[in-house]
Amino acid sequence: MIVQNSLDALLENEVFLPELTGTERKKAFMSLSSILSTPNHVHKSFIRLPLESGEVVRIPAFRVQHNNALGPYKGGIRFHESVNEEEVINLAFLMTLKNALHNVPFGGGKGGILIDPKTLDERELHLLCVKYVRYFSDLIGPDKDIPAPDVGSGEREMDWMMTEYKKIHPGHAYLGSFTGKSVAIGGSKGRREATGKGVYFTYRYLLHDYMRQNEKTLASSHNAFAKTALEHAGRPMRTAIQGFGNVGSVTAMEAYSCPHIQNKIVAVSDRNGTLVNPDGLDIPALVAFASKNRGDLPMTQKALQAAGVSADIHDRDAILSMELDVLFLAALEDQLHDDNKEQVRARIIVEGANAPITQEADDYFSEKGVVIIPDILANAGGVIVSYLEWLQGRETQFYTEEAVYEQLIHKMQETMETILPQFFADPFSLRQNCYIHSLTRLSDVLYRQGQLY
Ligand code: GLU
Repeated sequence: MIVQNSLDALLENEVFLPELTGTERKKAFMSLSSILSTPNHVHKSFIRLPLESGEVVRIPAFRVQHNNALGPYKGGIRFHESVNEEEVINLAFLMTLKNALHNVPFGGGKGGILIDPKTLDERELHLLCVKYVRYFSDLIGPDKDIPAPDVGSGEREMDWMMTEYKKIHPGHAYLGSFTGKSVAIGGSKGRREATGKGVYFTYRYLLHDYMRQNEKTLASSHNAFAKTALEHAGRPMRTAIQGFGNVGSVTAMEAYSCPHIQNKIVAVSDRNGTLVNPDGLDIPALVAFASKNRGDLPMTQKALQAAGVSADIHDRDAILSMELDVLFLAALEDQLHDDNKEQVRARIIVEGANAPITQEADDYFSEKGVVIIPDILANAGGVIVSYLEWLQGRETQFYTEEAVYEQLIHKMQETMETILPQFFADPFSLRQNCYIHSLTRLSDVLYRQGQLY
């Protein structure tokens, strides 16, 4: 995990428990490190799933509860064929940091099911969701642990899961047991688009709004981020988006229709390939095609014709090495790593996915002055609107879509306004700065809770 050097930097930083003396601070720091480096609980089961074919499979399923110092455990359930225990633990840790960074009153958790959901029919998938809740029913609850969608899951799965939770716990509040539900069953307007909208807003705010407001002070800054951002100000941007799922497709639409930054979206990709058009892709037509084709992009000339889109088709990873100004990573983790880092041409990388850049690649990009807008800052829109959904469920009062977006933008902007002055003043990367901020908030709370001895 990339967090280690930020942890080390924290001890050197005066923001870390300034009320303590030298040895006390060291001890508190050791406690903090040990608390965060190990999750509170790792739950694992093998779900027995009878398939329509008559075959019975045992599917590994996880729920990791990383830390609940700031509130109930919170984080999505990933349905993917590469899910494993270590990955779920790392993603749960990121949720702890993400919620702390944005002052969302939740801890960090994550779930995972080792399955490619596209291989199951609807009845099998329904049974898998129901059984997941049965296996982990004692852990989940609106004040204990609140799952949500992640890669491979969405509204339908959350609706099924909440319904099973309600059956198992009759007479208890249930709307807050899962977030990311459909609006009809108690979900929030705007939740589905929240992560992608938040990703794009973070990029726009950092590269455009904040730079404009602070142009004079930042013009003389040696900060690599400020330099790159000012170099690109007002220029058309060659933009690409890796991943065209819930996050990537919404990010692409936001970029396509942004009135503040002139984005030319020259490439998008999914697990089947990359579509390239140097004059700019027709994103609304691609979104319309994907929504009718199980989320897939058109990857044959015939399919492109049917979609009404003109593009060249390249392999899946071609998007990573293109000549670009900005690359949005909205697929999976570990996409940019030691073996491909040197091929990356983009000067700005935005992490819509969780942990899409490995430590080695991150170090390399920092050295090269590539600007990285990190996951816990950029992709928190989902969990922020999950929090709003949880609140609405408690009050049984539902907000309009405008009210949801207003609160989402307000919260993300508030976080950036808090961290940016320090970021532009000190030598750390934006990622380190975000981590330091999260760790400071966590250590304050853990200290007051008497846990840092
Ligand atoms: N899975 C999303 C994330 O990684 C959302 C989590 C949530 O809403 O709890 O941030």
